[in-house]
Amino acid sequence: MDIAPKKVYEALVGKGVSHIHHVNSVITACQFLRQGSLMSRGTIERKDLFQTKQKSDDDDKAYGIWFDVFVDSVDIHDRAKRANAYGPVMFVLDVKLIEEAYTGRVWVTKLNPTKWEGKSRNERWFSSAEDLKENFVKGRFDQMIVFRHCGGELPFKKYLKEVILDDPKLEAKKDEVDYYSMAYGALRLSMTEGGIDVPIHKRNCPEKCTCVAEYQADTKRSREMYSPKI
Ligand SMILES: [Zn+2]
Repeated sequence: MDIAPKKVYEALVGKGVSHIHHVNSVITACQFLRQGSLMSRGTIERKDLFQTKQKSDDDDKAYGIWFDVFVDSVDIHDRAKRANAYGPVMFVLDVKLIEEAYTGRVWVTKLNPTKWEGKSRNERWFSSAEDLKENFVKGRFDQMIVFRHCGGELPFKKYLKEVILDDPKLEAKKDEVDYYSMAYGALRLSMTEGGIDVPIHKRNCPEKCTCVAEYQADTKRSREMYSPKI
């Protein structure tokens, strides 16, 4: 529920959160870099921009969060040792974005919206700054920070620290270029167009990470996630 951004910021910093993370496909990440804003899925659709489909889309529309912008308090790929379902590109943003960006209000989920069916408002969302202080746990995947009523666009230029890109160790047959290099080039170009200059780092996977096996097992999905064009 509605919690003042400054209070959310203070609670998160108190829990050791220094950065927030947003994960997406290459094509969508490129659009964000060109615009200098994270955009809700609803905003991308309204602007007639292309985005890769996500399993959660129907739920997001049904629950009225289609125009909201979601970020995580931790690097889920690193913690879970698997590919992130939302894509191979991760934006690492300074947590100060929460305090300083004008967004109206910041809400924090207690449960991932994919698990919301039959749950009350109190089970879905943190209710207050006190609730956050008591019950927020850094690293719990269900607890996502949601920028609501922000017009579906969250300017991030000042706060973007780096971009982490997964290497699926796959080649695009037609062009004989590997996916990582193709994505790197597209992200770099989009940064230039958006007036952004931050490092793009290849992800250093934790031991026993299964992401490469996942990317290689579903090449159709990987192609969608890495293609910079429709
Ligand atoms: Zn990995």
